[in-house]
Amino acid sequence: MAQGSLKIDRARYVITVDEQRRIIRDGSILIEAGRISRVGLGDELADARADRVIDARDFVVTPGFVNGHMHISYAHPVRGIFPDDLGSPLKHVFALQMAMTEEEEYHTSLLALLELVSNGTVCLLDPGSTKFPDACLQAYEDAGLRVILGEAVTDRDAPFPLPRHATKDAVARTAAFIDKWNGRLEGRLRAWAMPFSPETCSAELLQGIKRVVDERGTGLTLHHGSGSQARRDYQSRGAKSPTEYLEALGVLGPRTLLAHALGLDDAEIDCVARTGTAITMCPVTAAKGARGVGEHGRMPELLARGVRVALGCDSPNNSNHLDLVRAMNMAAIQYKDARQDMRQIPAETALEMGTRLGAAAVGLGEEIGAIEAGKRADVVMFDTRRPEWQALWNPVSNLIYNTDGRSVHTVIIDGRVVVDGYRQTFVDAARLFSTVQEIGERLQARTGITFPRSRWPVV
Ligand SMILES: [Zn+2]
Repeated sequence: MAQGSLKIDRARYVITVDEQRRIIRDGSILIEAGRISRVGLGDELADARADRVIDARDFVVTPGFVNGHMHISYAHPVRGIFPDDLGSPLKHVFALQMAMTEEEEYHTSLLALLELVSNGTVCLLDPGSTKFPDACLQAYEDAGLRVILGEAVTDRDAPFPLPRHATKDAVARTAAFIDKWNGRLEGRLRAWAMPFSPETCSAELLQGIKRVVDERGTGLTLHHGSGSQARRDYQSRGAKSPTEYLEALGVLGPRTLLAHALGLDDAEIDCVARTGTAITMCPVTAAKGARGVGEHGRMPELLARGVRVALGCDSPNNSNHLDLVRAMNMAAIQYKDARQDMRQIPAETALEMGTRLGAAAVGLGEEIGAIEAGKRADVVMFDTRRPEWQALWNPVSNLIYNTDGRSVHTVIIDGRVVVDGYRQTFVDAARLFSTVQEIGERLQARTGITFPRSRWPVV
């Protein structure tokens, strides 16, 4: 789609997250043909003309955020139904997901996209939850976000209902999915391989899928966890750990993204770093799910080894919110507490994971993740005319510690203004909200998966 030129003029601060990590006070950005063509001081760009000029003097401008693990299928219509004392809701989660119809998934995906972009997310990776990509394509197109999609496959029994196929069928389905979808929506849609996890996929399946990915130059993501019990399980089958098992199969490497990755020991971190494998961590899911970040979280060590670490919000029934600013906040604060050391994960590092590093982790580091000439124009403008932005001395500290997605005022993706002064035009939000509420009622009635509304009497 041809875009007119756009100038973001004299922003209070532009946090570029570029090579030098420059923060430009009174900064301007020129966007032409969907890319950033110039960025610098307002005076340096005084001569730059554009079809539209946005007065940015009250704004802090950042690169758009990347959400590296975000199930957008089933959860919105039943968000919040699981009581805290239920323990793991996983078996209900997958049963609800399997029960979604095409039309329901279209609406719930649209709502997820609305929530994501309203909070400044420009790119998400859905780890194989979407069952009806044909139906959802229109939602992705209308919302304008970048989407990395795949079909979850397994060929082994799982403790919960997942799509299961014969090994060679699962490989063939993965190849067909990638061939059909990769590069659509003017390149905003990428298709990856998404075997669910090493426990639900045979070695033959994982290796077959990795071959498909290497031949096509695309990516692969899977759920991954370790820890002392997992290492013992794998040792009984001849591998040192889940991570070294994947390395021995040839599944790790720069095209592979492991999700969650809690419980890694030093040898496994070595293995991830040595192979150039990327990782998405979901800090709010880890905290809310009582995963023991103090014992199992190794984010600082992974970052210290140069691993590309992205952040994810997981699902509207894990993190519950889809706000990457809050995820960055959690990443920054939870390791300080877990290690009893305030130097862990500085605000700047949290912002890198949400932008530059996250983009690199999902294979888009050349294209997005920073405000630099030549990159695609994915930009977020935060409105500082709000109490939580006061007083403003250090914009990165304010962004990570004081604010959240509420002050996202304008979002630009590929040079197109998708959220404009808090408004979007791709969906009738009020109607969508009631549609999704109705879907939730139908889904609970159909599956029988329902819980008391609250621990308190609803009268
Ligand atoms: Zn997941």
